[in-house]
Amino acid sequence: MMAQYLEIKEAYADALLFYRMGDFYEMFFDDAVLAAEALDIALTKRGKHGGEDIPMCGVPVHSAEGYLLTLIRKGFRVAVCEQMESPAEAKKRGSKSVVKRDVVRLVTPGTLTEDSLLEARRHNFLASYARIRDEAAIAWADISTGAFHVCEVTPEKVSPEFARLAPAEVIVSESEEEALRNIAEDLGLPLTPVGRAAFDSSSGEQRVCALFRVETLDAFGNFSRAEVSAMGALVDYLDLTQKGKLPRLQSPQRETQDRVVQIDAATRRNLELTRSLSGGRAGSLLSVIDRTVTPGGGRLLEQRLSSPSRNLETIRARHDAISYSLDQSLISTDLREALRKTPDLDRALSRLALDRGGPRDLAAIRNALTQAEAIADIIGGAELPALLSEAAHTLTGFDDLLALLDTALVADPPLLARDGGFIAPGYDDELDEARTLRDEGRSVIAGFQKTYVDATGIASLKIKHNNVLGYFIETTATHAAKMLAPPLSETFIHRQTTANQVRFTTVELSEIETRILNAGNQALEMEKRLYQRLSDAILAESARLNAASRGLAELDLVTALADIARGEDWCRPRVDNTRAFNVTGGRHPVVEAALRQKGGESFIANDCDLSAEDSAAIWLLTGPNMAGKSTFLRQNALISLLAQIGSYVPADEAHIGLVSQIFSRVGASDDLARGRSTFMVEMVETAAILNQADDRALVILDEIGRGTATYDGLSIAWATLEHLHAQNRCRALFATHYHELTALAGSLEGVENATVAVKEWQGEVIFLHEVRRGAADRSYGVQVAQLAGLPSSVVERARVVLDQLEKSEREGGKQKALIDDLPLFSAAPPPPAPTPRSSAIVELLETVHPDELSPKDALDLVYKLKEAA
Ligand code: ADP
Repeated sequence: MMAQYLEIKEAYADALLFYRMGDFYEMFFDDAVLAAEALDIALTKRGKHGGEDIPMCGVPVHSAEGYLLTLIRKGFRVAVCEQMESPAEAKKRGSKSVVKRDVVRLVTPGTLTEDSLLEARRHNFLASYARIRDEAAIAWADISTGAFHVCEVTPEKVSPEFARLAPAEVIVSESEEEALRNIAEDLGLPLTPVGRAAFDSSSGEQRVCALFRVETLDAFGNFSRAEVSAMGALVDYLDLTQKGKLPRLQSPQRETQDRVVQIDAATRRNLELTRSLSGGRAGSLLSVIDRTVTPGGGRLLEQRLSSPSRNLETIRARHDAISYSLDQSLISTDLREALRKTPDLDRALSRLALDRGGPRDLAAIRNALTQAEAIADIIGGAELPALLSEAAHTLTGFDDLLALLDTALVADPPLLARDGGFIAPGYDDELDEARTLRDEGRSVIAGFQKTYVDATGIASLKIKHNNVLGYFIETTATHAAKMLAPPLSETFIHRQTTANQVRFTTVELSEIETRILNAGNQALEMEKRLYQRLSDAILAESARLNAASRGLAELDLVTALADIARGEDWCRPRVDNTRAFNVTGGRHPVVEAALRQKGGESFIANDCDLSAEDSAAIWLLTGPNMAGKSTFLRQNALISLLAQIGSYVPADEAHIGLVSQIFSRVGASDDLARGRSTFMVEMVETAAILNQADDRALVILDEIGRGTATYDGLSIAWATLEHLHAQNRCRALFATHYHELTALAGSLEGVENATVAVKEWQGEVIFLHEVRRGAADRSYGVQVAQLAGLPSSVVERARVVLDQLEKSEREGGKQKALIDDLPLFSAAPPPPAPTPRSSAIVELLETVHPDELSPKDALDLVYKLKEAA
């Protein structure tokens, strides 16, 4: 057995091997040591190898899923090795034969299908990244739903794109691993390097064609080499991990990057879209707005939030659908209730496709289709807006399949097909017959007990059953003598004597027992065959079932968004191709919900107008800490994002010209985990914005420059604002506590001052949370410190120091002089004109591609550069 173990293990060196032995998965050697520690289970030993004890640990098969989950979460991969025959079958081949075993599946984070291993409301993407010369592409699939996508990426878009997808696992060629490492670490993506051969684009094309049974990929779109390579590698990896049982993938959807709003990882974090800053779902935008009632709807909402659209038609179609739902009061009908009762169609379907399903998956599909029919009836057909009519259309036309499942299945089937009992009586005559035989046999046996009591005169005689003897007649030792002697001994055959009991059988009893057993086994076999037939019937419709599932998710999402729009008084935003950004009475949905939960203060709605014709439009927001600057900034970013996912927005009115990118940065946020100084992070992130934001971007910058000394910070903030204005020409909100910056509004067209109002009353500040045009007069830092509970002696002292400082400033002290120097920054100095000499060097350098240089070429180049200098 050890020889067999080692042979199998050799093929799965990078995974833990779950080696099936009876009711346990056992692990040996280093695997055992690692797993015992990761799972906190006992490490034992078994036998010797090369004179040394073999470490071993094991987990029971029935609870293996929980252990698998722990191991996958801790970054392991697990190869599940099953017994491919029963011990009895192995014995037939020879008394010393080891049971045949083989790996049936390699479990990795990106290839999970079990409900217990997946989060119902999150996608679980497996992604692959391919680069061929200067083209790169990402392909991704969710094998539990069958979604399959691919898109090309430019180098600077690789990170935002992975941030958007947040895949559970990324396959990459060994040769590209290094290039992707930084991004992967940054985003916490598990990388799985595979051999280069898997990324070969020619064989990739063949693999994808074979999977979809087509001659050429042209049917699905016009793919670049890199895209084909990424898709091919993904399919190859599925083949490897699923051991040839390929999931039902939908045909690949080609995506283009200008289809969605670009939002990088830092912005996603800052805006707390799907996770709050503390890491959980609670407190995120998603958690507050998610009113979906099906897992599929929940997944769709998460996906939309991650990828807001840039397509006006798509966005408007979604708004139309919500508006129709509100007008027709669709939310108050039974629709939501019917949706709530709809099982997760996608995931049941994928388990069936991978042969990992059970009778409950068949029932899930039946129940989902039953609900789908009801839902289609509720929405009706008349004059539906396009999105709803398309969705409703996917829900019908399953009459035959539904009728089949309805008659074939019992209401609540058991988990495992091998236990039987899931096919309804009346569906299959032969099965009914076998079951009757089995059940009649049982009642006949129950009747025997009375006959035997009468025949023997032993009132305490019982008929019992155990796994060793089967059915037997049992009596106490005292009464047994009578049965062991003629004439009774002619009928009653002795089987076993225990301490107190003696057990018998009769010819009649064993005959019936054999009949029961045969009938029972026959029934089980028939049920297994019927299971397969039903599963095949379902899979034959998988494409349409997937579509129905998408339709259900869409209906759930539309009505969920309508529900929140009505409940929270949201409005339909006007989205168009202008560069408008005009929000009246805007609110921050998360802060508003939090305030409401606390009771007390209610949220103060605020307006924002960043509409721009052809220039930049920037609001420079000043005001004391705690006034509500960050809240205002973020609420406007969230409103544009919600508008473009196709939702209503928390405002009285909103007019949004399509936003192409959203950037959000907060000064000096702590990022110790990544080992960069906070100021460095702030600058790296700001640089990314200044380099990437186009004139349709929406940028919000909160206290940029805060992380360094005052004048450094002020200068950086100053120059950043100028760059946004002159180069990026985008719509932006810029919060700062550097009052000096407010002077810029006077000199830069399109830059306006706004402030969050506070009132001072008896030496204390009262936050009004009202955003008004104009600059803040002062920062109220000392008052805020007092509110925070700083000892009163410290607050008093701070007041005195502040007075002194302000006085010296008024009187033209040193500080004033420094501030007056600042306008130096207002004109960005032009880059120095290259001198003739350095231009020769620049020209030379422009022809050089460092990646292609050999060390010798590099040395030659240095000589040439020296010459040119
Ligand atoms: P700042 O960025 O100016 O320091 P924040 O935006 O962090 O201030 O807001 C501080 C607190 O004030 C928030 O946690 C919230 O409770 C409250 N707040 C902010 N904006 C509003 C508002 N518009 N209406 C009511 N309360 C608000």
